[in-house]
Amino acid sequence: MEQPQLASVWAKIRGLLQAEVGEAEYRNWLRPMTLSGLFGDEIAISLPTGFVRDWVRDHHGARVNALWQAACPKVRRVDFVVRDPAHPVIEVMPEPAAEMAKPRVDTEDKPDSRNDIAAALDPRFTFDAFVVGKPNEVAHACARRVAEQPACHGFNPLFLYGGVGLGKTHLMHAIAWELTERGGANGKPVSVAYLSAEKFMYRFISAIRGHQTIQFKEQLRGVDVLMVDDLQFLIGKDNTQEEFFHTFNYLVDAGKQIVISADKSPSDLTALDNRLRTRLGCGMVADLHSTTFELRISILESKAARAGVPVPPKVLEFLAHKITSNVRELEGALNRLVAHANLFGRVISLETTQEVLHDILRAHDRKVTIEEIQKRVSEHYNIRQTEMTSARRARAVARPRQVAMYLSKQLTTRSLPEIGRKFGNRDHTTVMHAVSRVNELMQADGDFAEGVELLRRMLESS
Ligand code: ADP
Ligand code: MG
Repeated sequence: MEQPQLASVWAKIRGLLQAEVGEAEYRNWLRPMTLSGLFGDEIAISLPTGFVRDWVRDHHGARVNALWQAACPKVRRVDFVVRDPAHPVIEVMPEPAAEMAKPRVDTEDKPDSRNDIAAALDPRFTFDAFVVGKPNEVAHACARRVAEQPACHGFNPLFLYGGVGLGKTHLMHAIAWELTERGGANGKPVSVAYLSAEKFMYRFISAIRGHQTIQFKEQLRGVDVLMVDDLQFLIGKDNTQEEFFHTFNYLVDAGKQIVISADKSPSDLTALDNRLRTRLGCGMVADLHSTTFELRISILESKAARAGVPVPPKVLEFLAHKITSNVRELEGALNRLVAHANLFGRVISLETTQEVLHDILRAHDRKVTIEEIQKRVSEHYNIRQTEMTSARRARAVARPRQVAMYLSKQLTTRSLPEIGRKFGNRDHTTVMHAVSRVNELMQADGDFAEGVELLRRMLESS
């Protein structure tokens, strides 16, 4: 099969998988998949680490296989491999979700507002629709400032970071809408390019293949505002980082505004080149914190009002208590309630809520136990589970034990003494020490941090 065809089949399969497994699972596990190519009758898909590779193969391997075979009969087998850092991947595919799921905005009447390097903006993501509270007020204020006065000293680049579903993309689109609609400080049209880091890589790599790097650079350098979303995915060891760095410097030097988002602060983006990290932190860095109960209530109130369906305060409180992970899920739950109410003409009550959302609520009720954490961590580090409670102090068992204590503190509501008891009757100060030690190690060692982070996600999503 021709490469472009393979790419489009792959994009479709990814889209299907995303719809099937849901946003969280997709982001956590399937998104890092990259197509390495078709070798004979075998499709090779690569993943960043052995751990992720095993998870994807065990949990989704059969489905990925079936989808490939259905899409092209030539494929007999799908092989999941670990990406070799020495051989950078060149088959970087565009993220299908952004292309397919989001409503398109007609930009015909604003030919200057964007060019073809940019992705469409979501019409719902405006400043008006963004609810401000303690956890996001700083990020919101910075975004407003940039929208009013792009490339203003001290705010360039604007770097927004925070966990999934806390409003980074929303704020970036809001800036873009504001600027394209209102124009810059002097009322002149502003050209804004918003794209994901994955799309950036994809465009760049296609440009190299098509011998069009000059045009690509010119396009990028011709914008007034460049926004790159989810920079943590700019992982290419090849020259994409280099190119990004040059474009970045060029634009900042030329007085153009840059807005970046990522899931971590610039200094924690350890996969990126040092120079780039330093440069990213030079302007304004604003952190979106996890939502508070109050903010979740305000967001729900605002979204319910927009939907025009009366939702009793009791139901809003119930949701804000139950769904604490991220705003996207909160919004999803509310949308489902509203759709249900509209479809069946029922009023929304606490009872209907529990009935309609029983699966979502069950997932959130499910608590991880310390035993499960011990089991997973032992598996991950290849030690016997009994070492979790043993007295042995050799590093090979003590470190995993500390990780398990750390995760127990993070993922359960158990107190330090309770955790200590579950780890062979250890003292609570031992647990405290483990938590701070793991924190330190995660700061110092990117690989270690990645392992712990993956374990956390796996335990959360299992
Ligand atoms: P991120 O990019 O940080 O993962 P998004 O910007 O995509 O998160 O936000 C996820 C969803 O939650 C979007 O639908 C967004 O509109 C909504 N959302 C997040 N924060 C807020 C907020 N403060 N007010 C209103 N909606 C919000
Ligand atoms: Mg986002």
